[in-house]
Amino acid sequence: MTGVRAVKPPMKILRNEPLKKHTSFRIGGPAEYFCVPKDIEELRAALRFAKNNCLPVAILGAGTNLLALDRGFRGLVIKLGGGLNKISVRGRVVRAGTGILLPVLLNILSRRGLGGLEFLAGIPGTLGGAVAMNAGAWGSEIGKFTEQVKVLANDSGLKTLDKKNMRFGYRHSVLQKGGQIAVEVVLKLRKGLPARIRKRILGILSKRKVNQPLGSPNAGSVFKNPKGKFAGRLLEEAGLKGARVGDAQVSVKHANFIVNLGEAKARDVIKLMTRMQNAVKKKFKVKLEPELKIMVQSIS
Ligand SMILES: Cc1cc2nc3c(=O)[nH]c(=O)nc-3n(C[C@H](O)[C@H](O)[C@H](O)COP(=O)(O)OP(=O)(O)OC[C@H]3O[C@@H](n4cnc5c(N)ncnc54)[C@H](O)[C@@H]3O)c2cc1C
Repeated sequence: MTGVRAVKPPMKILRNEPLKKHTSFRIGGPAEYFCVPKDIEELRAALRFAKNNCLPVAILGAGTNLLALDRGFRGLVIKLGGGLNKISVRGRVVRAGTGILLPVLLNILSRRGLGGLEFLAGIPGTLGGAVAMNAGAWGSEIGKFTEQVKVLANDSGLKTLDKKNMRFGYRHSVLQKGGQIAVEVVLKLRKGLPARIRKRILGILSKRKVNQPLGSPNAGSVFKNPKGKFAGRLLEEAGLKGARVGDAQVSVKHANFIVNLGEAKARDVIKLMTRMQNAVKKKFKVKLEPELKIMVQSIS
């Protein structure tokens, strides 16, 4: 046994857990260590375990905006879900754990007559991932409805960040710098009629069915929209629909999605992304910036 294994794990920690099981792309090699804390105490313990063993840490929500590499992740992958999903409602103010899945959250909110977040319908991530990415659609973003985010910082414990400190921008928040894990979010919503909220959600879900390749594993939009333009349109006009590297293919339905046709590797996706960027650069002199995250960052 090496020094790394000398400090005992505080909870069930899996070894060599395939990340493809935890990403919507169904891609990714093994996480050396992997755990799903059931509360903040277990999350703290997991961070201590990583620190004591000098392990880099990666945070995972539902893995719907992530490309995990073929070699996996050497260190501890902490998946937020399960226990961190409590929710409480007081008037228009909702306090929710970041492990809650957005479809579940929307369902609870619509039943309570709380609207505003319907634009998130069809986004399959967790609340934590949505806040980290400032997820949005149809001209709205979750940051607009976020009052506070409670984070566990690796070096300084629990603290609360207000909207300003979250530095929300287009698919951006301060959490992308690493070092802080969102554990709870306070949202301020609008009162509405449950039936109307539900109708808006169903309308958005059916639009997504028409425009997006929901039948094949993918990680949502691959690139951010450049200012005043749509990445999908540029990619389509550059002739990328259907382009393929291995089992990674630019969706024939929406050119800003890459789908995994079965056995795609992360290296195929990265090669295809480079091809997409080069084609758009050549035709339109526009640089496409990736929206999906590659699991390499570390918070320790
Ligand atoms: C079919 C499909 C459609 C999509 N449509 C949209 C869309 O319309 N708009 C949109 O914005 N996105 C969209 N996405 C992308 C994705 O679902 C969102 O970005 C989602 O909010 C990510 O949440 P997640 O839990 O899956 O995060 P993950 O993919 O697990 O993580 C994303 C990033 O956030 C970090 N992170 C996750 N949780 C936390 C936390 N608690 N604290 C700190 N950092 C954290 C991770 O380390 C990683 O860097 C789509 C994806 C799919 C598959």
